[in-house]
Amino acid sequence: MSTHSQHSQPRDFRPKETDEAEAAVVGTGPNGLAAGVVLARSGLRVHLYEAAETPGGGLRSAALFDESVLHDVCSAVHPLTASPFFRGFGLLRRGLRLHTPEISYAHPLDGTDSALAWRDLDRTRAHLGQDGPAWYRLMEPLVRRSERVTELLLSDQRRPPPFPEAALVAERLLRHGTPLSPGFRGTRAAALFAGVAAHAGGTPPDPAATAVGLLLGHLAHANGWPIPEGGSRRIADLLIDDLLAHGARLHTRHPVDDLRQLRSARVVLLDVVPRGLLAMAGSLLPDDYRRRLERYRHGTAAAKADFLVSEPIPWSDPALGEAGTVHLGDGPAALRAAERATGRGERVRAPFVLVSEPGRIDPTRAHRGRYPVWAYCHVPNGDTRDPVELVRRRIEHHAPGFSDTVLDSTGTSAARLAEYDPNYPGGDISSGAVDPVQALLRPTARLNPYATPLSGVYLCSAATPPGPGVHGMCGYWAARAALRGEFGVRTPPPLD
Ligand SMILES: Cc1cc2nc3c(=O)[nH]c(=O)nc-3n(C[C@H](O)[C@H](O)[C@H](O)COP(=O)(O)OP(=O)(O)OC[C@H]3O[C@@H](n4cnc5c(N)ncnc54)[C@H](O)[C@@H]3O)c2cc1C
Repeated sequence: MSTHSQHSQPRDFRPKETDEAEAAVVGTGPNGLAAGVVLARSGLRVHLYEAAETPGGGLRSAALFDESVLHDVCSAVHPLTASPFFRGFGLLRRGLRLHTPEISYAHPLDGTDSALAWRDLDRTRAHLGQDGPAWYRLMEPLVRRSERVTELLLSDQRRPPPFPEAALVAERLLRHGTPLSPGFRGTRAAALFAGVAAHAGGTPPDPAATAVGLLLGHLAHANGWPIPEGGSRRIADLLIDDLLAHGARLHTRHPVDDLRQLRSARVVLLDVVPRGLLAMAGSLLPDDYRRRLERYRHGTAAAKADFLVSEPIPWSDPALGEAGTVHLGDGPAALRAAERATGRGERVRAPFVLVSEPGRIDPTRAHRGRYPVWAYCHVPNGDTRDPVELVRRRIEHHAPGFSDTVLDSTGTSAARLAEYDPNYPGGDISSGAVDPVQALLRPTARLNPYATPLSGVYLCSAATPPGPGVHGMCGYWAARAALRGEFGVRTPPPLD
């Protein structure tokens, strides 16, 4: 997989002066960039160090096959740009165009029947028949208070939760996130909820998966699940523009493998997983903390398949073509069984597959009969199989003739994804299993999960609360913790 975006304008990231960093950020995924933005806007001289050739981590886009067609290398669909960090930062005000499909996500069932999560909640209620009222009761109060619900579910989990939002979420976790939960009666609603909850590699009634389902599920009816015009890379570009405007320096092709390389900085923020911290500072860490980091668990992995196709996917149910994301997981029971087996490390015949066709939603992404198809499937951690055939067959099953439209394809196994970005060990794109323990105690039980026992050193990756996804909140909370801990600054700078 290439990290080079041929669409990028050539940019000079080399330091212009020999000034030393007051704050060093290692890793430039959305969390490293968000942390850098907060620190630079506080007036600190920030230097960011990125191992790869291009910055962005999970926010890179590249022309994989054809100069004119851009593919998202990792993340593609961005409901979590509704996070408090991105709302404050103002992506739209800075020129980002978000294309939001009318159907946020969809799940084909038998024959030509599909479950559809329309952005319009009333339409979804009507579509879900007998489960419509239950779906509406589940989502509507969350949608009405979406800003505060999102704040709660993307919090640092260390401050008093807002009411009544906390009560709403707790009640829903009890109703859908325990083994005794009644769930839904019909297949459509059950499939929709199982699919949206499976994004972080679990399934209801697991409470951590249910929380993921509530967050992403209600956003589908609130802000929708948008796709940024020009690819995910555009989000990283805007963060970098703001960093450079505030005097930050960005060093690419600059892996940090020993923390002592950064000893001149007053504060260091690490957009790395526990393994990364152990590799660069293992011998400096107290035994107890080191052992706890060693116990941090990585879970279900992803294997990525990218296709260049000559026409939009010929779904048997044309409604699927209107959805920004399609979940291929068969019925809800089959999806749950596949996810559980994958989590245990078994290779399953029909894994959960997520598919998106950005060219259908963002017209700038398709050119002269050439369209990008982004997909990944869940596989056991460390899996070495190229997923292209598996994913092609899964799509073909619901879209006969798809294979004939494929002009080119490339696969990235879970094992190779880990080489591409060290924050995805074994291909775990959640940077750590999202189970009931690690959803809350991330990376380990500590009052301040961002601080490490090393003076001035903080973790800020998706291995800290609130966990995976492109929301920037791990970086935002870590930077606030560092400002408070190292400089006594309690009020964060304005982001706009
Ligand atoms: C295939 C795939 C699909 C996804 N789809 C979506 C999606 O559609 N929507 C969504 O919201 N999320 C999605 N995600 C998840 C999302 O991309 C991640 O949760 C998010 O990027 C995590 O951000 P981060 O900053 O913590 O880490 P990352 O984005 O992984 O960035 C970490 C960066 O740190 C660098 N780094 C690590 N160690 C060092 C070191 N020692 N020295 C220097 N640099 C270092 C890495 O090279 C990398 O650039 C997807 C992820 C993948 C892989």
